[in-house]
Amino acid sequence: MTAFTSLRTRLTIILAGLFATTFSLLVGLVLLTVGDLVRREVKAELVAASAVFDRLWALKASQLSDGAEGLSRDPGFREAVGADDSPRVETALRDLKSRLKQHRAFLVGMDGEITGAPDLSEAEAVAVRSVLGSGSGQGVLRLGAVPYLAVAHPVMAPERLGWLVLAGRLDRTEMQSLEALASRPLTATLLSQPDGGAWRTTDPGAGPDPRLVDFAEAARARRRFGVMATDQGEALALARPLAGMGEGTHAVLVLRHPLNPALAPYHGLGLVMALVALAGLGALMVISGLLARSITRPVAALNLAAGRLRDGEEAHVEPASRDEIGSLAQSFNAMARGIRDREVRTAASARTDAETRLPNRRAFESAIAGFDPEGLFVAVLGIDRFPEVRAAVGYPAAAEVLRELASRLGELVPDGICARLSEDRLVTTVRAGGPNEALLRVTSLLGGLGRPLRIQGLTLEVGLGAGLALVDDPHPASAVERASIALDQARASPAPVALFDPETYGDPGARLSLMNEMLGALEGGAMQLAYQPQYDLRAGRICGLEALIRWNHPVLGFVSPDLFLPLAEATGHIRALTSWTLERALSDQKDFRRAGHDLPVSVNLSGRMLEDPGFADRVIAMIQRTNGRIRLEISEAAAAGNLETGLQVLDRLRRARIAISIDDYGSGRLSLASLKRIPGDELKIDKTLVMSLDHRGREVLLVKSIVDLAHGLGHKVVAVGVETAEALAVLGGLGCDAAQGYFMARPMPPSHLLDFLGQADDLADAPAEEGLKAAG
Ligand code: C2E
Ligand code: CA
Repeated sequence: MTAFTSLRTRLTIILAGLFATTFSLLVGLVLLTVGDLVRREVKAELVAASAVFDRLWALKASQLSDGAEGLSRDPGFREAVGADDSPRVETALRDLKSRLKQHRAFLVGMDGEITGAPDLSEAEAVAVRSVLGSGSGQGVLRLGAVPYLAVAHPVMAPERLGWLVLAGRLDRTEMQSLEALASRPLTATLLSQPDGGAWRTTDPGAGPDPRLVDFAEAARARRRFGVMATDQGEALALARPLAGMGEGTHAVLVLRHPLNPALAPYHGLGLVMALVALAGLGALMVISGLLARSITRPVAALNLAAGRLRDGEEAHVEPASRDEIGSLAQSFNAMARGIRDREVRTAASARTDAETRLPNRRAFESAIAGFDPEGLFVAVLGIDRFPEVRAAVGYPAAAEVLRELASRLGELVPDGICARLSEDRLVTTVRAGGPNEALLRVTSLLGGLGRPLRIQGLTLEVGLGAGLALVDDPHPASAVERASIALDQARASPAPVALFDPETYGDPGARLSLMNEMLGALEGGAMQLAYQPQYDLRAGRICGLEALIRWNHPVLGFVSPDLFLPLAEATGHIRALTSWTLERALSDQKDFRRAGHDLPVSVNLSGRMLEDPGFADRVIAMIQRTNGRIRLEISEAAAAGNLETGLQVLDRLRRARIAISIDDYGSGRLSLASLKRIPGDELKIDKTLVMSLDHRGREVLLVKSIVDLAHGLGHKVVAVGVETAEALAVLGGLGCDAAQGYFMARPMPPSHLLDFLGQADDLADAPAEEGLKAAG
């Protein structure tokens, strides 16, 4: 788990982030509000200062106006003006100036003559004259670099003689007195612009600040508030336009208040808030860390416990609180208990046989793993014909039989353990000094177990067999498997008990791989059919062929069908093999027919095929497809083994006009009654009877009785295993119809067979016996 994926870190970071954001927003809001307040205050101050200026302006203007009016009404002055007496006028103007402590006083005559201001430049003089022309009474007038508040008054006698102008400076000093009246540190600046000229200010220095000029320019027509940049930072400014004296003359009073000093008292507040935020953040991180830990610690404990539960260990968590996490811990504990209980139950049922409640194979094997293997044998006890017993008494009683036997076993082998191995088998342990002692002990055990049983009020007697295996044996199969195989071996022998015999058992691994190879051979061409001719003894010619399978193994060489056919039957691969044989025989038969030899072909059938309900239909379809002449051979033993189902299959085949041959007759088990029921066409005498046939032996009688019996049933008789001329002669004498054997021909591959059949045709006209010998 990385630091960030840990819940604790994430929780701390999220809470701290949330706090920091909220606090920043709050501080931002406070600072904005404070800034706004300060701005409003400054603005109010500027407005107040501007109002003060207005009053000063009005005061000064009325002072100037009164002064000018007084002199212009003075008769002496009027007379002096009327008489154009410049010295007197200048004297009167000087008196007025000094009396009223004003800075400039001059007279502009109607002819434009200016008296009392010799220093005016031509441009100023023009400005002054134009002022008078427009009749404006008062306003800002700039003379040189200095702005003045000027007031003009007409001099009448009674007609207008000219204008008397009285002006007071509006210079830096005036501005300073205005600044001094404000409660905040204002800067007042007067900017003026004569018609078409440059802006000038009352501020000292080379020229006006262009930013100030720009601000004033924009306020020429009306009052304006705004923020403007200054050398000391931003300032809030109010520009108030003033009347100019004369056309085209502009004047603006700009009052400024720098914002930084206004906000300075609040900088401290910001700092304090930042410090408080930092401290708060620190405290919050500590608290959220602790809070997160109080959440994550039980979660981590739960996680650990879940890991222990997964590993099958004891897992319990102590609920640390009574909140949701505490109840989660309680639920976890309940879940762990439930899982443990179920595990115990599952483990128990995995070791118990559900039907009898006896221990099962797994329980048995794990129990004997803990036993001392010295002299320890496993004994598997099997109930004979258990399915029939169960069908007779029912499942519950059959289970009781097993339980009763197990309980007897418990009494007879008190130090052993008993379990149910499979449907009809119990398994137990026996200690003995050696195999013979073990065999004796188990034999006497069977005696004790075999006593009649009392089940549900009924007396039952069951037959028992046993197989034994030594536990300490290096054989790859387990002791239980070996003892089970030993039981099979015992059942195949007359003895009730057998010790595992590895030789009889062989190597099942090799057998299995042989089966795989056999399937490969069927597909890959290593499997072929050989054909052995059959001779009609009366006609003296070949009357049929028997197809016999041949496997040429790349390593083992020729593998006898007697070796692999039983394996194919046991593993079910006989189906594939039979299909292959039939297909091949039909296709070879076509080839033979094309070469001019139209002969029936006998194909051997395994008894297992009689158990396959779809088999007959498949075979019929195959044979009819190629118009084949196939005779199916079924051995006496196979027919006897599956008589009832087998008969149905054979009937079905017979109805489809497929000939049936009863093979290997005389080797044993088929009763006469059963033989009569088989829908056969032909009966083949087993080669063991024929091979040793001569004129003297007792087989002659036996063979004769078989021939007569077969003929009596309407079957043709074929003798197999004719190895000598004598046997052939005897068979002929006994009325046998056909013969097959090494004496006449061995089984041969199709190519040889065609040559052989060609030669046989040439000899067909020779006497039978000669012809046969020549062909063999
Ligand atoms: P079977 O049906 O009794 O076949 C006759 C066996 O006797 C053949 O052995 C044949 O080679 C042998 N034989 C013939 N004449 C003589 C003789 O004069 N002297 C001696 N000693 N033996 C003779 P093979 O070919 O080894 O077949 C053994 C058995 O394998 C057959 O016995 C048959 O039951 C079975 N089999 C062979 N091919 C097939 C097949 O394609 N399918 C099935 N299901 N079984 C087959
Ligand atoms: Ca045969």
